[in-house]
Amino acid sequence: MKPAPFAYAKARSLDDAIRLLGEHKGEAKLLAGGQSLIATLNMRLSHPSLLVDINGIAGLSGISVKDGMVEIGALTRHVALERSSDIAKHAPLIAKAMPHIAHPAIRNRGTIGGSLSYADPAAELPACLVALDGEMDIVGATGKRVVKADDFFKGLFETALGANDVLSAVRFPAATAETRVGFAELARRHGDYAIVGLAASAKGSGKALSDVRLVYFGVGETPVRARKSEDALATGSVDDAVKALDLEPTSDIQATGDVKKHLAGVLLRRVAAQLAEARS
Ligand SMILES: Cc1cc2nc3c(=O)[nH]c(=O)nc-3n(C[C@H](O)[C@H](O)[C@H](O)COP(=O)(O)OP(=O)(O)OC[C@H]3O[C@@H](n4cnc5c(N)ncnc54)[C@H](O)[C@@H]3O)c2cc1C
Repeated sequence: MKPAPFAYAKARSLDDAIRLLGEHKGEAKLLAGGQSLIATLNMRLSHPSLLVDINGIAGLSGISVKDGMVEIGALTRHVALERSSDIAKHAPLIAKAMPHIAHPAIRNRGTIGGSLSYADPAAELPACLVALDGEMDIVGATGKRVVKADDFFKGLFETALGANDVLSAVRFPAATAETRVGFAELARRHGDYAIVGLAASAKGSGKALSDVRLVYFGVGETPVRARKSEDALATGSVDDAVKALDLEPTSDIQATGDVKKHLAGVLLRRVAAQLAEARS
């Protein structure tokens, strides 16, 4: 199938992109890597009248580490994160997740901003940003606002972004000597969207864990924090944490809810083993 006809505009700046979105009153869509958008156009799940290409906007991509925070521009491609020594050192959770995101050809074009804005509930990066207690910079007609990752994902493919907003960057605390991270997912083939996945971060001192954040993907409409298991892992054993899992995954084309629930426990044991190890 081919997409419905649409116009195309290359935005010269962030302001230009926001102006173009505003002029088309909810009928325009931003084009970043195109790896999800073009598929939805081809399947006619989406039929915008205008695509606003943000690929030429200066300053929208790049990775910086400053004042204990990692900042990533929205247009930064998956491959740049995968190959970055700054990400490997200061954002080990993102580094662990990257090889699981699709395939090299898709990672060459896909962007972090596109992945977070699209908000597929089975995607890796939304869960990572919540696990890292990250925040999003959103720019719209009335200026910039900052939204915590915990509040950004609102529902199925739904975020805090309004129709005329652009996600410009994301930020999260850089890893320190006490940072522990864990990541695991089960997919039918490597690179497919996960059946169930788990991204986690914590602070560790010897065997003791605190500030545990366990964020599942593929089990609900948004990334889902397993708060009772977070507490149980910090104060008790891995068995306690698995017992405390109170997810209610719905069935989808990949697996039934019961299978997902079982897999969530399997992943928790794998991720807990990663959290138990201090970084070398
Ligand atoms: C075969 C295949 C397998 C894949 N497997 C996985 C996988 O396993 N895990 C995974 O996470 N992803 C997977 N993806 C998706 C991939 O990661 C995409 O790159 C990503 O979801 C979208 O990024 P993009 O830059 O291509 O965005 P686009 O496709 O350009 O845009 C996606 C949506 O986000 C909006 N948008 C884009 N950028 C912004 C912005 N800065 N501000 C506001 N809105 C914006 C667009 O308007 C559009 O609605 C897969 C894709 C394909 C085709």
